Amino acid sequence: MLSSSAPIILEIAIPTPLRRTFDYLLHVETPQADFLNPEPEIALINSIDAFALSPDTLKPGLRIKVPFAGREVTGILINTKTRSDIETHKLKAIIEVLDTEPLISATLLKLMLWAADYYQHPIGESLPIALPALLRKGGPLLNELQISWRLTDAGRSTVISAGAKKQQSIQQYLLKEGLFADSDKTTLAFSNAVLNTMKDRGWLESFEHPVEAPAFTITPSPLKLNDEQRQLIQEYEAASAGYQAYLLEGVTGSGKTEVYLQLIERVLLAGKQAMILVPEIGLTPQTLQRFKARFNCPMAIFHSNLSDKERQLYWQQAKSGHAKIIIGTRSALFSATCNLGLIIIDEEHDISYKQQDSLRYSARDLACVRAKLENAAIVLGTATPSLETLSNASSGKFKHWHLTQRAGNAKAPVISIVDIRQQTMIEGIAEDVLLDIQATIEKGQQCLIFINRRGFAPSLICHDCGWIAQCHACDARMTVHLKANHLRCHHCQAVEPITRQCPSCNGQQMTFQGVGTERLAMAMQAQFPDTTIFRIDRDTTSKKSAMPEMMNNIHNCDAAILVGTQMLAKGHHFPNVTLVIILEADNALAGIDYRASERFGQLLTQVIGRSGRAEKPGRAIIQSHFPEHPQLQKLITFGYNRFAMDLLAERQQLGLPPYSFHALLRLESQNAAEAQQILEEMQRYIQPLNCLCLGPYPASLQRRAYYYRYQLLIQSNHRGQLKQALQAIHQFSEKRLRSHKLRFSIDVDPQDMS
Ligand code: ADP
Ligand code: ZN
Ligand code: ZN
Repeated sequence: MLSSSAPIILEIAIPTPLRRTFDYLLHVETPQADFLNPEPEIALINSIDAFALSPDTLKPGLRIKVPFAGREVTGILINTKTRSDIETHKLKAIIEVLDTEPLISATLLKLMLWAADYYQHPIGESLPIALPALLRKGGPLLNELQISWRLTDAGRSTVISAGAKKQQSIQQYLLKEGLFADSDKTTLAFSNAVLNTMKDRGWLESFEHPVEAPAFTITPSPLKLNDEQRQLIQEYEAASAGYQAYLLEGVTGSGKTEVYLQLIERVLLAGKQAMILVPEIGLTPQTLQRFKARFNCPMAIFHSNLSDKERQLYWQQAKSGHAKIIIGTRSALFSATCNLGLIIIDEEHDISYKQQDSLRYSARDLACVRAKLENAAIVLGTATPSLETLSNASSGKFKHWHLTQRAGNAKAPVISIVDIRQQTMIEGIAEDVLLDIQATIEKGQQCLIFINRRGFAPSLICHDCGWIAQCHACDARMTVHLKANHLRCHHCQAVEPITRQCPSCNGQQMTFQGVGTERLAMAMQAQFPDTTIFRIDRDTTSKKSAMPEMMNNIHNCDAAILVGTQMLAKGHHFPNVTLVIILEADNALAGIDYRASERFGQLLTQVIGRSGRAEKPGRAIIQSHFPEHPQLQKLITFGYNRFAMDLLAERQQLGLPPYSFHALLRLESQNAAEAQQILEEMQRYIQPLNCLCLGPYPASLQRRAYYYRYQLLIQSNHRGQLKQALQAIHQFSEKRLRSHKLRFSIDVDPQDMS
């Protein structure tokens, strides 16, 4: 009898933009079976014992090496079956099963499949996101070794010169503690440069050692919970274990982090793992320190500066359960775990939770899906909830927790609006406000000035003829960076020298117009020559250790002026800041998309919230050309919650998200007419599907890096309908877009519509 048993067919996700899976055979059967050889030979093709491979052992989530388009690629097993739509003899056989146990758990596989479907992204490109890069490429699991640093004999005895403060602090730390893990260096604010210098001098060495058996102790909280905090913890304890979503809406400084810590403590004691997502880890060294001070247990900390190997080690430690706590930015959501009990999304409103390319996911939304799949609790914490989350809380999907008071002895800052019309301004600051700054400094306290524009000045203008330095590649002005001595485009990063002579009229009066952080910091230094000025923006914090160092310095400083962008708004705790000044509130109100008001409310509330977070009472001053602006007034008078609930009611009236669903189609081409035309064709193509289409219209930055950008917004009251439309778009684009030099993307639940 030929081929008595049915073939085993493996359905595999392959990293390709094609929107489907591919079928392969587990075994190749030699076709020339004849009466001399009645049983077809089964070729052994697997490194793992082929006879052990059966549909029972072939679990979804295994990595499988297969031939694909003339190459060998690493795919992921989705399913085993006995039937394929393709005739068996046309199927290729796999090359190798790479793992004995699935690397992607059944739960994570479900999550990734859900995400691929929801965000309309190819399965083969979505699944690998759940793996670290080296494993994605087919690499082996690593031995779980850890790298640490210690002093050499020379390093212990050497006297480091007083000028080398950073080296001294490393030496002192090691003399006391003995060693520190390489993974902790960012938290400790030890920079690679300094470590390597000391290593080169023979003072330091790094060494590999096995990960210690997970020590696990919890330092009791030094704080006594206040009533509001205690009530939440009790509610959590009373809830039955398993899935439950909470919105923790707590005003700035209300002790949300303390609540997180106490919840995590309970999860760990129950033998489970906790996952914490934060907006930007480089910006939250203090949060990490608070976690480390409380929990003495292995943590997997994911951030953008890890090497591929480090990332994989952490991933493995989270998967094995060795790491009890997983902390990271949005992609840490995809970390393997073995027993997840709680997910916390800190600053859940933060836009950095939305991935802006490839699989355009919202880590917050996927975290809710994951929590459900894992049967774990999830807490979304913020002082300024997103409207989506507020509506989920109003509808009862999320339990709504409130912390209405600042913790400890801290009080909410007193807010005032300064009308700057016709006032004398000094580098963007009203004279009276300068006096407030001076008074703050004289008390030995700190002042934070917020301006959402980095660089020296936003424009270089010819005073004679009005010529403005524009980027050649974008519809945008070049920003002046004085210290770097160049003009830079903030959209495509193009750099040009600062022209001293006008290219249009040859005039010599080139002027810097407008104020950015660099200029403001220089102006403040000129006004207050004896005061330390900190500038905090993407330019001054791009180096890995820059932010922790700066935070330490700010903490160790009495009087100081902090000048910075929205980076300052992200959850920082500056105990000595008692005055916050917001320079251009009006700008933030002038956004174009329907989320502008929401973002304005969040940003303003967060920045104001940096003031007076400790014992000393704080103030906030908002400079405005339009102080009676109703949105501004409402926010200041009634607070964020009322402001946001009114916005939510407005959205409901207008039928905007979260009361309807959006997908944004973006098309970029070097030919503007083509981009617009193709989107028009798409619109016509999906017309029968009854979705509302807005556009096509040019993006607010119409040209970027030589590409013209057009958008089509699809709106529907039904998720299913929206998905149908997007599937139709795929059909269309597979035919229509193939031959063009175009960039096309679909963004489901878009956050940034610019
Ligand atoms: P949030 O995360 O809500 O902005 P934090 O958790 O950073 O607030 O808390 C702000 C400050 O209040 C911190 O210095 C924290 O140590 C302190 N704090 C929190 N809870 C308490 C409490 N129960 N008693 C006294 N101080 C507290
Ligand atoms: Zn000119
Ligand atoms: Zn540009």
